[in-house]
Amino acid sequence: MTIALAGNPNAGKTTLFNALTGSNQFVGNWPGVTVEKKEGKLKTQKDVNVMDLPGVYSLSPYSLEEVITRNFLLEEKPEVILNLIDGTNIERNLFLTTQLLELGIPVLAAVNMIDEVEKAGDFIDLKALETALGCPLVPISALKGTGIPGLIEKAVALGGEKTRPAPKVPFSKPLEAGISSLSDLLQEIPEGQKRFYALKILEKDEKISLPLQKKEKFEEIRKQTEAACGDDIESLIAEDRYRFITALAEKCIRKKNRGGETLSDRIDRVVTNRVLALPIFAAVIFLIYFISVTSIGTWVTDWTNDGLFGEGFHLFGLGGRAFAEAAETGDPNPEDFGVWIPGLPVLIGRLLEAGGVSEWLSSLILDGIVAGVGAVLGFVPQMLVLFLLLALVESCGYMARIAFILDRLFRRFGLSGKSFIPMLVGTGCGVPGVMASRTIENPGDRRLTVMTTTFMPCGAKLPVIAMISGAVFGGAWWVAPSAYFIGIASVIMSGIILKKTRPFLGEVSPFVMELPPYRVPGGVNVLRAMWERSSSFIKKAGSIILLSAVLIWFLSNFGFTGEGFQRVDDMNDGLLAGIGSGIAILFAPLGFGTWDAAVATITGLIAKENVVGTMGVLYGFAEVSEEGEEMWSAFGAHFTALSGYAFLLFNLYCPPCFAAIGAIRREMNNPKWTLAAVGYQLGWGYLLALIVYQFGSFFTGQGFGLGTVAGILGLAFLVWLLVRRPSEGSALPAEPSEAAA
Ligand code: GDP
Ligand code: MG
Repeated sequence: MTIALAGNPNAGKTTLFNALTGSNQFVGNWPGVTVEKKEGKLKTQKDVNVMDLPGVYSLSPYSLEEVITRNFLLEEKPEVILNLIDGTNIERNLFLTTQLLELGIPVLAAVNMIDEVEKAGDFIDLKALETALGCPLVPISALKGTGIPGLIEKAVALGGEKTRPAPKVPFSKPLEAGISSLSDLLQEIPEGQKRFYALKILEKDEKISLPLQKKEKFEEIRKQTEAACGDDIESLIAEDRYRFITALAEKCIRKKNRGGETLSDRIDRVVTNRVLALPIFAAVIFLIYFISVTSIGTWVTDWTNDGLFGEGFHLFGLGGRAFAEAAETGDPNPEDFGVWIPGLPVLIGRLLEAGGVSEWLSSLILDGIVAGVGAVLGFVPQMLVLFLLLALVESCGYMARIAFILDRLFRRFGLSGKSFIPMLVGTGCGVPGVMASRTIENPGDRRLTVMTTTFMPCGAKLPVIAMISGAVFGGAWWVAPSAYFIGIASVIMSGIILKKTRPFLGEVSPFVMELPPYRVPGGVNVLRAMWERSSSFIKKAGSIILLSAVLIWFLSNFGFTGEGFQRVDDMNDGLLAGIGSGIAILFAPLGFGTWDAAVATITGLIAKENVVGTMGVLYGFAEVSEEGEEMWSAFGAHFTALSGYAFLLFNLYCPPCFAAIGAIRREMNNPKWTLAAVGYQLGWGYLLALIVYQFGSFFTGQGFGLGTVAGILGLAFLVWLLVRRPSEGSALPAEPSEAAA
């Protein structure tokens, strides 16, 4: 048996899904979080499937994720539809409910957020509502868990009964006449669904599959009905639904504070204020990145880097002070000074030594695996702080406001605020970010969003940002937030540039988003979101990052010498140095034309954390830290402020990792467009890094050279792209492959 969760966006479907199945799907307090259907099994009854569907406002789909929901309901025919209704917003939610009741599938309605309804002191006459709608109704709170056991019981029982609900919305006479003559023609369609299909024919819904041979007959009846109605059928149908719902709501719902200003309204007056909105947004983002990377973040990271992955802990007060004094003048043995807990590299080193492991193997483990993976894991605390802060901002409802605020800004540059939702998701990981572009109907805007979403710094880029900010800039306050702001600027500029080209011409699609009320973040949801994102990061460290570290160790430690292929003493003679030097030439104009930086950049395409992991192996994280020296300072000394920043820029804004490129390929569903996206990103990262490095070098008095000319040309090209006149003509039609998808 399958129970399908259907309802408006933000009604709490995923929260309920998680409660029912024990899974950990992402819950965010804004519409458009779930764009794919997710399947799970009831915790209490393993033979019952539960399906979390993307939220929809109606069964007339406009965007891809709405199609997913409708097709699932029509084609897979779940035994029960569990319709989640936001109890604080019943009138709007019932619009969908009236349509679900026409599908000929048993519907159980759950009035969710009943906790909030009660808090507001509102009254809902559930009995009267139940009678009027003709489907059972259960009050629940998905978040608090109230009413859920009873809900499951009812849903399972209903699925067994196979009683079809009778649709209750009466349409005006001419419409009903049309419906009944169409129903007569639809013999192939099961009795219970005829009304639904008849309405879709009248609405001229092209995406619905119908018996082809009767198409003309359908059209004839539709035309007749239209003539009889004397108006646009689609809007008449909607009007009749609203009339029904309004009458129902008047009878069944009594709001205590009708029309009054809620707390959310009052907060919104400030944070979405025309003048204050952008400064507040900038301040919030600044704080998030400043706290996670620079302040608390560094403090926690120092602790893990030195304590866990470095030399070890020295317990102060137990000989720690004497040790610290001795360390100022010489190189004391920490163990002579009392309680000292060695760090992982030291411990593993001793274990290997005790086990009599051969030198090369212990080098592979220490200099390869521990160094590479340890370097990446050292940034986990910062990541936890970032993800915690993001989850808090998301679940309280402020993220939804950011999309709204940025819509005002984006609109001026031909971008829709809708594009920002994928970018919000992308600050966690680019893969779901790119997928979230499905909420955008217009194919041009969707492609534009797919191409630019990964400019936002995702979680995996955080270690890179933190590494450069710490090692090259000594933790300067502006480095980490700048990564985010340049990301947004990249999106806006790309919007301006690409909107002038033929495939992207056209009006900005309208952006209507309902702002959810502010909510006190649910502790479980926030921790879950933080954990979900962080654990996937840790899993990556144990798989891709580990394998890459081994490969990097091998390639950098072996090479061809006079005596053939063998272990080399100096990494500069290794195979990797040879390969890297070849690529490094390409990066020389950007200021980091060294083989190690080139290799790190390339491995970053596999996963962005690899940039850090590779540097960890190449700068001998484990070895250096054992000698008590901070490895990152050895790395930092390798860069100037300018070349370090250019390295950061290129790595952040060049094509993302393979996983995200794969997501881009799936969403584009077309090799040409995939190539165009990756090519554009490559060009963009290169151009930014080139301009910053070359102009920076010139203005800091490094002289004028060939590079400076390249920098000037690069800037001129960028300015031209931004100010040139748009191409003539109209937008290209959708690709055939896309229409099919
Ligand atoms: P979906 O879009 O329908 O999947 O909705 P989500 O499950 O993502 O939830 C949207 C927001 O509503 C989240 O912030 C939830 O924490 C919140 N929420 C869900 N159920 C309840 C509830 O019963 N009571 C309250 N107060 N909030 C809820
Ligand atoms: Mg959801």
